[in-house]
Amino acid sequence: MKTFVNTLRDELEELKSRGLHRSLRIIDGIQGPRVTVEGRRCLLFCSNNYLGLAGHPAVLKAASGAITRYGWGSGASRLISGSMRPHRELETKLASFKRREAAILFPSGYMANVGVVSALTGPGDLIVIDKLSHASIIDAARLSGARLRVYPHGNMNKLEAILAAAAAYRRRLVITDGIFSMDGDLAPLGEMTGLAKRYDAWIMVDEAHATGVLGEHGRGAAEFLGVEENIPLSMGTLSKALGGAGGFVTGPELLIDLLRNRARSFIYTTAPPPALCAAAIAAIEIVEREPDRRRRLLRNAELLREGLRALGLDTMESAFHIIPVIIGDARNAVNLSEKLFGKGILAPAIRPPTVPRGTSRLRLSVTTGHTEEDIYYLLDNLKGLTTCN
Ligand SMILES: *Cc1c(COP(=O)(O)O)cnc(C)c1O
Repeated sequence: MKTFVNTLRDELEELKSRGLHRSLRIIDGIQGPRVTVEGRRCLLFCSNNYLGLAGHPAVLKAASGAITRYGWGSGASRLISGSMRPHRELETKLASFKRREAAILFPSGYMANVGVVSALTGPGDLIVIDKLSHASIIDAARLSGARLRVYPHGNMNKLEAILAAAAAYRRRLVITDGIFSMDGDLAPLGEMTGLAKRYDAWIMVDEAHATGVLGEHGRGAAEFLGVEENIPLSMGTLSKALGGAGGFVTGPELLIDLLRNRARSFIYTTAPPPALCAAAIAAIEIVEREPDRRRRLLRNAELLREGLRALGLDTMESAFHIIPVIIGDARNAVNLSEKLFGKGILAPAIRPPTVPRGTSRLRLSVTTGHTEEDIYYLLDNLKGLTTCN
């Protein structure tokens, strides 16, 4: 009989033989456009710290001030004795930032999705999602016990067909990323809200990558597309453009009250450190005060995308700050990523199961802090490495 570790070794060997094995690289210093990776300086083109807030002095100061006042840990779940003043202050801030009645904080975006979906749906209900939905949406849907149906990426005819045949379910919930995390394109929220209304479905938008970035006020994809009024249920993260960690849901007070009572990933977990809340408030204030940060981010993205397209590279329907460069084969994507690393550029290959087979890619993301020289340096190296392939 095989031993425990031999079985694990076989499974890992199998992943390696398919070019799908992953490992961690250790970063030193503050997250920014440049970091130290295993002792060497590197340009980062893969961070979600889009606005550079993970190392912003005002954010750090808010966190350390809160540590002095409130200590580090919160000691219990929110419903026991872990609900501290900064949690409430952050939820109030999130509600006013998103112009909603109320907000609820979760320890991560992943847990926000799991919590809200399981609280609102169960057996007898239908959840409909896009094929390219983030893993946390898929896991949330599976955990809820509701029936799950998936439509091909962006295919509104198929979404309509599914909804048209769904009248027998108790509830119908359509969940979508606002900006898709691996392709960087926008969900057709206008059409989706129309369909949700016609077929009596609820709609929920995951604004993980759009919070702080899209829309005149940085409220996300729904603001950008002018459909906020039609989407009372919205989820976001503090972990990307806001530079910290945590997830949140905003909506009517009745929704938030229900989530406090029903969302298991809110109830059965320790409240996040109060300092995390203070840092997030400072980050949101910067988003509100400095719209130029997101404008600079989107200008950087445009510069990089145009450069990539001029090299003949396939960036799919990317429209904002997430820019896939399709390579195809997982091993080729890994080779390219390793060669870039040799040039001091960190841009990891994204492979199945994160993306569909045959669409392995570099997933590039720019940040506000990148200079034009940084972007040209990446383009020059990609030019050298992709033309002699
Ligand atoms: C990153 C991400 C999440 C999870 O957020 P975390 O705060 O990192 O747990 C959820 N949904 C989408 C679309 C994401 O990209």
